[in-house]
Amino acid sequence: HAKAWGRGCFRRFSASMDEQAQSKRQIEVDLRKALVHDELEVFYQPVVDIRTGRANAFEALLRWRHPSQGFISPTVFIPIAEETGMIVEIGEWVLNRACRDAASWPDNIRVAVNFSAIQFRRSNICDVITRALASSRLAANRLEVEVTETIVIQDTEATLLVFHELAALGVRLALDDFGTGYSSLSYLNRFPFHKIKIDRAFVKDLDDPKSLAVITAIMHLAKDLDISMVVEGVETPAQLALLAARGIHEIQGFLFSRPAPLGEIMEMIRVPFRLPFSQAA
Ligand code: C2E
Ligand code: MG
Ligand code: MG
Ligand code: MG
Repeated sequence: HAKAWGRGCFRRFSASMDEQAQSKRQIEVDLRKALVHDELEVFYQPVVDIRTGRANAFEALLRWRHPSQGFISPTVFIPIAEETGMIVEIGEWVLNRACRDAASWPDNIRVAVNFSAIQFRRSNICDVITRALASSRLAANRLEVEVTETIVIQDTEATLLVFHELAALGVRLALDDFGTGYSSLSYLNRFPFHKIKIDRAFVKDLDDPKSLAVITAIMHLAKDLDISMVVEGVETPAQLALLAARGIHEIQGFLFSRPAPLGEIMEMIRVPFRLPFSQAA
């Protein structure tokens, strides 16, 4: 260890820390301009029912085309937007755009929108959602609100109240990235979730029979609780076949489509996805 922390290394290390802080500040500054300069865009990724090959929902995923740096991943700028509180405004923008876009899709297709914990704390999320639905004329049951476990852990009682308000509006609630955090099973019966989304970390390890066993167990639990389940991050026909054999049928992943611009969605709705195996088999 002593060697790794030698002077030369340390200097380089601290310089890169400094660069990191600098680029973070720059992103923060640029992000403030991004909204007004129209650099943000919402892409959509289908959730496919593999019994029919049809998309039944699309997840809205934010994209930022930075004028000089090109595309910046939401995994980079969302945490900064959360730290600075900008996510409240950005999140509201995404919600309104997604509701407006989805209003032009067939009635049986839902749209899923990601929400950060801060949006629940810093704004009246029920009002924000009610307004977005009213102005887009999207039926409440076509909107899925995706939250992660961090929301459930913080301010549990307050969150529970808001969730019940949202459920009363008719909006659907989805627990995202399931299995990556604390994943206390008690959330599943305490909170009115309609859906859980299994994180793609499980799919990556699908060769390990234990990973498949965990997914299958969660599937049975979800079924008994009358909660639907999506598996995220399916990239290969082999992964799909393993999940299909276990009776899992709601799938999201690059195998079907990467997140795509609005202009490509109608075609994905019109033409069913090709399945890599025969349905008759
Ligand atoms: P998420 O909500 O879990 O979204 C799924 C992420 O997995 C997306 O990454 C999607 O492109 C990626 N993905 C889907 N299928 C596959 C696959 O088969 N393989 C691989 N390797 N990846 C796959 P993306 O678009 O980069 O978004 C990352 C995260 O950023 C999201 O994770 C979400 O937590 C956050 N995010 C994106 N848009 C928003 C937003 O509008 N608001 C908030 N609060 N967060 C957002
Ligand atoms: Mg999500
Ligand atoms: Mg997820
Ligand atoms: Mg995530």
